Amino acid sequence: MNLDEKRIINIISNNDEASIKTSKLLIKKLNNKGFIVPQKYDRNAELNICIGGDGAFLRTIHKYKFSDIPFTGINTGHLGFFQEILPKNIDEFINKYIEHDYVIENIFLVNANIYTKTNCFKLFGVNEIVLKGIKSKVVHLEIFIDDNHLEKFSGDGIIISTPAGSTAYNFSSGGSIVYPSLKTLQITPLSPISSRVYRSLLNSIIVPGGFTVTIKPEYRYENSILAVVDGIELKYDDIIKVDFIVPTKTISKLNFDKNMYWNNLKSKFL
Ligand code: NAP
Ligand code: MN
Repeated sequence: MNLDEKRIINIISNNDEASIKTSKLLIKKLNNKGFIVPQKYDRNAELNICIGGDGAFLRTIHKYKFSDIPFTGINTGHLGFFQEILPKNIDEFINKYIEHDYVIENIFLVNANIYTKTNCFKLFGVNEIVLKGIKSKVVHLEIFIDDNHLEKFSGDGIIISTPAGSTAYNFSSGGSIVYPSLKTLQITPLSPISSRVYRSLLNSIIVPGGFTVTIKPEYRYENSILAVVDGIELKYDDIIKVDFIVPTKTISKLNFDKNMYWNNLKSKFL
């Protein structure tokens, strides 16, 4: 390592006992190798290490505004699909990192532009953005793909999932698993109604990244819709339309093992 060059690594940790213990150990080991771990988040760092589960990984990305600094994670949480490293493999991780024995993977996001009567709101999600009714009412949503009318959906709501989020809420709702390098959006229905009164597609559709998915709500109960971004609920009044696209902005994640994705699927879902 060049001694003139300060190499800074941010550690963002959950507050539970296991995460704090892992964080302390990691700081010690990184310091021994000459890295600086600042007390507070440093925008000049070369890496962000997140300690916790998937929820912690998602919160870190949102908190640091989809930073260009690559992310990696140590799993002290429950499922940890995003979190590639286990606390027992910290030494191996540090060695591989120093040797540049990894590839940088781009994680595609989903961007929703919400147009209300008076405003436009821009949201970004790592896993998904869900549109739902408020107070558990059925929602009626007109869905368009590049201005082509697809359907009038009636049911609990619609998930617009990224490839990385395809193993999360999307998967529990019957959507397909999409490999992260495929630039796509998945439109997945939540409890679609298919009756003589309402007819909605029962399965998900995977749309290539260049298309715009537009959703126009029809109001029957109250002029409000919930948008749930990576698990965080936001309420909007008088939405005219929502455009969903795959933004050009991505985040990057270190990938230490090309077989990780398939091994993860088997070990964490089956
Ligand atoms: P949470 O309610 O604590 O966790 C939901 C579960 O989903 C956790 O086990 C979490 O892993 C896992 N998870 C998150 N992202 C994942 C991904 N990309 N692939 C596979 N599993 C993933 O909430 P949270 O931890 O803050 O996570 C927010 C996410 O929860 C949302 O983005 C949404 O996808 C998901 N969610 C799922 C359902 C459902 O499946 N019915 C309902 C609501 C929300 P960890 O245990 O490691 O945190
Ligand atoms: Mn969680």
